[in-house]
Amino acid sequence: MPTTAANRRRCLPEHDPWNDFSGSTEVNASIRRTVRFWLLPLIAAALTVSTIAAQTFPTDDPVIRRMWAEGMEQGSQAYRLAQVLMDSIGPRLNNSPGHGRAIDWALATYAGWGIPARKEQYGTWRTWRRGRTHADLIAPRFRTLEATMLAWSPGTNGPVEGDVVVLPATSDSAGFAAWLTSARGRFVAVSFAEPTCRPDESWQQWARPQSVDRMRAQRDSARRAWLDRLRGAGNVYARLEAAGVAGILTSNWSAGWGVNKVFSANTQRTPVLDLSCEDYGLLFRLAENRQGPRLRLDADAEFLGEQAVYNVIAEMKGSERPDEYVVLSAHFDSWDSASGATDNGTGTITMMEAMRILKATYPDPKRTIVVGHWGGEEQGLIGSGAFAEDHPEIVRGLQASFNQDNGTWRIDYIRMQGFAGAGTNFGKWFGRIPNEIADNIRLDIPGIPETGGSDHMSFICRGAPGFRLQSSYPEYRQYTWHTNRDTFDKIVFDDLRNNATLAAMLAYLASEDPELVPRTQRVLPPNAQGNPGSWPRCGTPRRSSG
Ligand SMILES: [Zn+2]
Repeated sequence: MPTTAANRRRCLPEHDPWNDFSGSTEVNASIRRTVRFWLLPLIAAALTVSTIAAQTFPTDDPVIRRMWAEGMEQGSQAYRLAQVLMDSIGPRLNNSPGHGRAIDWALATYAGWGIPARKEQYGTWRTWRRGRTHADLIAPRFRTLEATMLAWSPGTNGPVEGDVVVLPATSDSAGFAAWLTSARGRFVAVSFAEPTCRPDESWQQWARPQSVDRMRAQRDSARRAWLDRLRGAGNVYARLEAAGVAGILTSNWSAGWGVNKVFSANTQRTPVLDLSCEDYGLLFRLAENRQGPRLRLDADAEFLGEQAVYNVIAEMKGSERPDEYVVLSAHFDSWDSASGATDNGTGTITMMEAMRILKATYPDPKRTIVVGHWGGEEQGLIGSGAFAEDHPEIVRGLQASFNQDNGTWRIDYIRMQGFAGAGTNFGKWFGRIPNEIADNIRLDIPGIPETGGSDHMSFICRGAPGFRLQSSYPEYRQYTWHTNRDTFDKIVFDDLRNNATLAAMLAYLASEDPELVPRTQRVLPPNAQGNPGSWPRCGTPRRSSG
């Protein structure tokens, strides 16, 4: 923990550093020499991280000023933390070895900052190690394919070769059963083959309107026909596996350039691959046109059994109201075809960095500040749900929880989730947050509670004030959310620093607020069906993968 550096930074002026060089000519000249030969590179480096200058602190609150310096200026550790997590540790599929490494790293990082942290077992989950996926088209020509195993897919135990075939269009189940016997040892394509991997935005921008219409009409009818074909195949994965196919080929295009969503397989022995839109279409067309596509696949994966699964919890004990809690949170697990950078590496770094800022600037909080790095969010908000179930004292004593799971852009929206009085607390807090952060944020008062989406629900469904630090979605859903392109380079660091600083400030202000956030629930408007609105109910967290 760079305490001395942090202390030095606290002494820096808030205004433009260039205006500091305004003393006497003599002093000025000496400073200029120093600047030219020694300081200039340092200042240039500093400016690359302090691109957002705070000119407008609404109050003279010294903690808020220190938080700004620690989070938005040279103090920020967001880049360093994110680079280690996304590049070196990589994706964090629930209870995979990568998730385990990330947990160890988080515990060591918190220990280095002097913040007590622990891992808390809440159940077990099947552990799976992803190895390499290498797939080549070897006939009628060579091409190395963009292919990756789905999560929890069996591997191949060395390279295997086989012809590629497409699920047949059969009108009767006897015909399909007969075809199945011929599928043994082959790779079977089971996804719709997109007729174009060019995003619709591109068509709309550049194609003639009649071409767009024709493409859409053809695509719609081809998709309907494919769905009929799938329906005719029944439980296709189980039947193909029973038939002894060499592998199952899928493609889940995310409607953008080069981008696929990659989820999990549910087979016991048969590898299931995701192929890029382009490469899947290539194999599919070669097979449909009887041009003899053949594939060589080497896929390495290992099942390591059902093992203990953990949340990571770090805590700064409250000095005046230790039994009241402010909870920061973000899920730690991710999908694993890329690095889980915006889902939810950025949320994770936001909250880790917020804790670091808090420890450096507000080490003795009034209320207890807890951070939760949940497991199993992608399998149904499991880690946070289990935590809330296992810690009724925290749910009971919760002042507020702030969750982020929303991509990389700066936070611009917080809804009060139907807590009728929460707006008063938020109004006070935002009266103290620098305009550069606060002006971007719309508060929805009183709002209505969400029905799902992320881990804030594990508190809201228990009637405890849970809030989501939400950002806009431009291209998040299309390009990075659950995709093979969710990588470090997509992170917007100005916004990550903004979000971490905001989370730290909210935790501080919620900890200091003499008033608890009221739990009064507003009368909810009727739902879409015209029935009276009802508060969301808690699910029972699945504590094992069995
Ligand atoms: Zn997420």
